Amino acid sequence: MRIVEATLFALQIPFVEAFAHSVRSRSSSDSIVVRLRAEDGTVGYGEAVARPYVTGETVAGCLQFMERTLWPAVQATDYVPWAGQEEIAWLGSLTLPAEANETSGVVAWHGSRCGFELALVDCLLKAAGVSLGELLPPRHPVTYSGVITASSVEGAVKHAKRFKQFGLPYLKVKITGEADQERLAAIRAAVGPAVSLRVDGNGAYSVEGAIATCEALAEFHIDSAEQMIPRGDPQALATVQAATAISQMADESLITLADAQTLIAAKACRGFNLRLAKCGGLGPTLAIAELAQAAGIAVQVGCQVGETAILSAAGRHLAAYLPEISFCEGSYGSLLLREDLSRRPIHFGHRGLAKPLKGPGLGVEIQDALLEKYAQQTISLLAKAV
Ligand SMILES: [Mg+2]
Repeated sequence: MRIVEATLFALQIPFVEAFAHSVRSRSSSDSIVVRLRAEDGTVGYGEAVARPYVTGETVAGCLQFMERTLWPAVQATDYVPWAGQEEIAWLGSLTLPAEANETSGVVAWHGSRCGFELALVDCLLKAAGVSLGELLPPRHPVTYSGVITASSVEGAVKHAKRFKQFGLPYLKVKITGEADQERLAAIRAAVGPAVSLRVDGNGAYSVEGAIATCEALAEFHIDSAEQMIPRGDPQALATVQAATAISQMADESLITLADAQTLIAAKACRGFNLRLAKCGGLGPTLAIAELAQAAGIAVQVGCQVGETAILSAAGRHLAAYLPEISFCEGSYGSLLLREDLSRRPIHFGHRGLAKPLKGPGLGVEIQDALLEKYAQQTISLLAKAV
């Protein structure tokens, strides 16, 4: 099956409320939606998210990489539709380059690759009339966590109470090194002892600061501390893990399969945060999950703040399919976005529970009119005649 047309939509969808962590605050989604059209007319949608402080990608860089590298690779390939092949092998057959040139400042073009991979998966599965849930059969229900932005302590408590009212059993709290104890004490008091709390430092701490903070927060019963120190030497993270009883989870430190291997070898942490747009799409993320499982590392399925229904849908399939996950994030949909792209809402319901998606492809129906409404830039690419 040949892909004959690609359209890239660089979107800006306003948030209902700004979201902040230690690295930045954002008030709108900046996803890039990739729409592919196959020779039989089937259309598939994928989503890329550029995060300069994670993979090094920018929106402009992603668009350029998509146009100059991914699109030529896609239009030159005659794709094999899925017909029951083993999932990692079939996903791996969707050859999509993502290696970065070391001088580019990009770790890997994983956001960009994810956008094209998801669009291909959606398109090829739809063409075969198959749901992603058949390729990745759900093994368990998915329960989402709430994530609390690093706003004022009062604001954080307000969010915590709202999530508690919604019955969410798991909350992640963004911390910055300022008033961490006060913040966690207030949130713990607001939600009571039964709600699971974890923290995410987004690399804001030194090794010593991370150890001291974990020690100071232990009394609030923290189930995991994510990326306390910046991406870098896995031995530094191993030092933090060895010094604290709180499980350390790698996020920004875990982008490539090679990262996963070095983190495991260094015994740097007890958890991995898998995010599709960070790890390069379904194929590479499943490969990392397999390594983690073999090494006894817990996995969380994470998300991108402001992702639309496309990444949320793919994340839900992944979360339901992985044999065991410690936590799951995402599917905030219109709880965060002023308008989400899917015709039917995708966000989770009471207690954070969400149903599996069963429709063809990723299982969401995308509204083209909203792509046009929120696009800041649109790039149309047509295949050369072969
Ligand atoms: Mg994180």
